[in-house]
Amino acid sequence: MLTPVRTLSHHCEDFIHDSEVEELLRPQPLDIGRFRGVVAKALDKQALTVDEAAVLLRASPELRQEVLDAARELKRKVYGNRIVLFAPLYIGNFCVNDCTYCGFRRSNRDAVRRTLTDDDVTAQVKALEDMGHKRIIVVFGEHPAYGADVIARTVENIYRVRSRHGEIRRVNINAAPLDVEGFRRVKEAGIGTYQIFQETYHHATFAKVHPAGTLKNDYLWRLDAMGRAFDAGVDDVGIGALFGLYDWRFEVLGLVTHARYLQSRYGCGPHTISFPRLRPASGNAQVTTPYAVDDDNLKFVIAVLRLSVPYTGLILTAREPAELRREALAFGVSQIDAGSRVELGGYTEFGDAQQMDREQFELGDVRPLDAIMRELLTDGYVPSFCTACYRLGRTGQHFMEFAIPGFIQTFCTPNALTTLMEYLVDYASEETRAAGLALVAQELGRVPEGPMRRTLEQRLNAIQTSDSRDLYV
Ligand code: SAM
Ligand code: SF4
Repeated sequence: MLTPVRTLSHHCEDFIHDSEVEELLRPQPLDIGRFRGVVAKALDKQALTVDEAAVLLRASPELRQEVLDAARELKRKVYGNRIVLFAPLYIGNFCVNDCTYCGFRRSNRDAVRRTLTDDDVTAQVKALEDMGHKRIIVVFGEHPAYGADVIARTVENIYRVRSRHGEIRRVNINAAPLDVEGFRRVKEAGIGTYQIFQETYHHATFAKVHPAGTLKNDYLWRLDAMGRAFDAGVDDVGIGALFGLYDWRFEVLGLVTHARYLQSRYGCGPHTISFPRLRPASGNAQVTTPYAVDDDNLKFVIAVLRLSVPYTGLILTAREPAELRREALAFGVSQIDAGSRVELGGYTEFGDAQQMDREQFELGDVRPLDAIMRELLTDGYVPSFCTACYRLGRTGQHFMEFAIPGFIQTFCTPNALTTLMEYLVDYASEETRAAGLALVAQELGRVPEGPMRRTLEQRLNAIQTSDSRDLYV
């Protein structure tokens, strides 16, 4: 295949130095004083350096519990008990790449290929709206048919779809790296977060799992994607690594290096970090690996990331089983998808059974949104469909959510509660509604008496008694 001419970002550099990361991971005795100092710094809500993150990774089995406990405490301090909910929407699975681990790879003859038409997209979006979703992420294979303009038009169409009170208020995208012009086009369409995973930060492994001669076999083009996004004015980006391709500790330091690089170069770190684990995929995808990450190590990864980047959202998707997702919420995860289907057309066409030849990988948690909402509510979390910050331009370096004193009480809690109330009134089962109303009352009781509480009470009441929706601050 001819590699297209690729213009890198203004400041492009390869800031991942494998030998330096390996050096940090070399077995060495743990200085317990330093370890505790690093934990204390994180609890003070200060982002950690890569060296400091490496100190946490050195924790002995006994000290790992301290990391988990600290992550739990920090999570509560920074995020409170809100959990943001979203759903993925797969638009097309044609792909010119041949990533060894992916069901969409071009050499997989078992894959049933399809690109949703505009009408198909409308049907899927209506189904998502009828469940109660307000935030989605649209996902594409890498193919000339899915250029920036097609992605942008898909996003614009999605924003126009309405079903009763339903509307999608934030469309994030996960698509192959664009050039600066492409990023400008999707920004114009009003995307929320642009998300792309480096897959592995380890150069040799990257080259191995993304075969030579494919577009994806270009480490720097991918690593530089966020730089081009920032050059184009997209300041809300999500990074990630696919755990299981290489040593998980290397990937953690890769993610922290990436986050710190964006912060120092562009004054704005990533909005989210994802850490999917390899899942079975169709057509003999290569998913058995010497680098498999077990559940305990995954929880530790989440805790170390939580402490290292206190202001970055952590996403745990429905690739993971329900019980692990439930547990992981406590010590770091702030966003989850729910009611997800990853087959093309999966929200209307296949019922509950997973169709491996139509999906990129197998899901571990296929419970309906309502069941997940109920579990969150009974566990004392406030599920949030809030999209206010992005719609009011509180993104990028202005995304000071956690730095502004009282931000959570002033904005996040009211918006979480009004979006939760919309869900309870418009979509919830009786049981979920009862659990939700009890939680809303409890949370409202925590808001200090005053004008803010009165406004919130009025809004919650308006949602319950009228067609008023989308009330946010
Ligand atoms: N095609 C674009 C790309 O590769 O950047 C869009 C992303 S792809 C559709 C979404 C993500 O799914 C990939 O970045 C990869 O990390 C993840 N993925 C692929 N195969 C997987 C598997 N077998 N198990 C878990 N995650 C997988
Ligand atoms: Fe294509 Fe993305 Fe799958 Fe690779 S991970 S085969 S680029 S869809």
